[in-house]
Parts: sequence; structure tokens; C-alpha cells
Amino acid sequence: MSAKIIDGKAFAARVRAEVATHVARLQETQGLTPGLAVVLVGEDPASQVYVKNKGIQTREVGMNSYEHKLSADTSEADLLALIARLNADPAVHGILVQLPLPKHLDADLVINAIDPAKDVDGFHISNVGLLGTGQKAMVPCTPLGCLMMLRDHHGSLAGLTAVVVGRSNIVGKPMAQLLLADSCTVTIAHSRTKDLAEVCRRADILVAAVGRPEMIPGDWVKPGATVIDVGINRIERDGKGKLVGDVHFDSAVQVAGAITPVPGGVGPMTIACLLANTLTACCRAHGLAEPE
Ligand code: NDP
Repeated sequence: MSAKIIDGKAFAARVRAEVATHVARLQETQGLTPGLAVVLVGEDPASQVYVKNKGIQTREVGMNSYEHKLSADTSEADLLALIARLNADPAVHGILVQLPLPKHLDADLVINAIDPAKDVDGFHISNVGLLGTGQKAMVPCTPLGCLMMLRDHHGSLAGLTAVVVGRSNIVGKPMAQLLLADSCTVTIAHSRTKDLAEVCRRADILVAAVGRPEMIPGDWVKPGATVIDVGINRIERDGKGKLVGDVHFDSAVQVAGAITPVPGGVGPMTIACLLANTLTACCRAHGLAEPE
């Protein structure tokens, strides 16, 4: 038996189409255009690709995209001054600082300087606290995308056993919070977890956010489980560059009930959720009803 492949690319296209419809309605009824500012410091090649894609997709849904590209030696004071200007700019509803930042910059300080209402990445400590206490927050985009796919597949997640492998602030921890808020019984595993294979085998929902190519084989997957593979790992195979996840897809697909591929699973949902968050931030800023 082979698992259902959860098509993140198609799902993300639907989310972006819904965002575009809302944006058009906001423009018609309120004369408002949501704006997303993306700040990139330095020349990290992967970050440049992400920022370019974010800009393209932002414009495609009818939002304004403001790109701020700063040199790698930008001072903390200059970066904080830019964030203060963006915080004060009414045309900017969402601010994203592309991570990682060069080493001389304190990422926590910079992220916490963003107005929490404009923190569309959901990394500001206020949003982390709001999420953790079940209050209305800006939810980090990658775990939000995973949650949307899980809800779409399962309907209710209540009572399911979820295992999240990885405890980063940007994926693992917020993913676990979201699953807990949806009444899953949640385990967070990490590099010091004992008997990880056994822990994974208990999961009805297995989320892998580790950053190790194909680390989770099919025999760690409970038959019929839903597997969400967040990992994006570039490897060389047969002399060619290839993207693989944290899950060994070919073996896991034989056991799981449903699985996200890499590429084409979680990845496309992340930018779609960023656009959805920017729309939400715009609606909240103007006291308008939020999109569902
Ligand atoms: P981090 O490196 O910040 O965190 C990795 C986590 O995995 C850590 O908690 C670490 O544990 C854990 N880990 C490492 N090795 C093992 C192991 N052998 N067994 C169990 N746990 C282990 O990574 P991120 O959370 O930022 O990203 C994870 C993956 O997701 C990466 O491949 C990244 O590229 C991808 N990603 C994809 C996105 C998308 O849009 N699809 C967005 C963001 C990330 P410990 O804390 O103990 O060190």
C-alpha cells in the first residue's frame, strides 16, 4: 500500500488564490493594499533566492512588496533604525527580517524590535507568548502551513498522538504548540531523545524538522500515520544536486497513510502562509474582519 501524497504545491496555490481574492476586495471596498517589507542583510545565496521568491509571490497576489537589501557589514544601529522606520510606516503591514543574520548582529534583539502586530514571521517574543497561551498571535509560517495541511487531511486532530522531531524556535516548538492547541497529545523529540525510533513509531502524526537528509526511515513510521517532512536538505546523488527531506521518502511512503514530498510539500506552504499572515496583519491594523 502506498500513502496519499499531500500536494503542498497545489494547496499553496489555493491559499494564494484566496489571499489574492481578499486583497482585491480590500482594494475595492477600503482602498487598501497590504504591504510586506522584507529585509535582507548580506549575500547569502539561499536567502537571496527566498527573498526574490517572496517578492514575486507578494506582487502576484496584489500586495505591495518592499525589499530592503543591506550590505553584510550593516551595523546593528542602522538595521534597528530601518526597522523603526518600517514599524512607523502605515503602508507596511508585515515586516520580515530574513534569517540567518550575519554573526555580528543579534538576531533576537533585531526580531524583538519589530512591532509584534507587523511580525508576520511570528518570531517576536510577544507572539511566541501569545501562541503559547492560546491567544490571538501571529503564527510562524512553516508550522502554520503544516497545520493547515494536517487539518485538511484529518479534519479534527483531537486526541491524535503527535511527535515533532526538532525543537527549534522557528519550526519544532511552534509546531508542537499548534498541535497541542488542536488537542493532540504531543511529544517533542530532539538530538538527546532516547530511542527515537520507538518514539516516532507511536505517532499518528509525525513531523520531521531536523535538517538531516533522510534520517527517518519507513520502519520508524506507524502504519497509516501522517508524515509531515519539513526538512530541506541539498545532497549530491549520482553526480547531481538533489533536494531531500528529513524522512526517507521511498520507504516511508510504503507505510504512512499520507506524506508530504520534498520538494513540493511543506516548502510552498511557507510563503503562502507568509502572505496570509500579511493579509491578517493588514486587516487587524485597520480593525477589519480577518479572513478565515
Ligand atoms: P535547527 O537546526 O534549528 O533545529 C534542528 C532540530 O533538530 C534541533 O532541535 C535538533 O536537536 C534536532 N536534531 C538534530 N539532530 C537530531 C537527531 N539526530 N535526532 C533528533 N533530533 C535531532 O533546524 P530548523 O528547525 O531551522 O530546520 C529544520 C529543517 O527544516 C531544516 O532542514 C530546514 O532547512 C528546514 N526548514 C524548512 C522550511 C520550509 O519552508 N519548508 C522552513 C524552515 C526550516 P537539538 O535541539 O537537541 O540540537
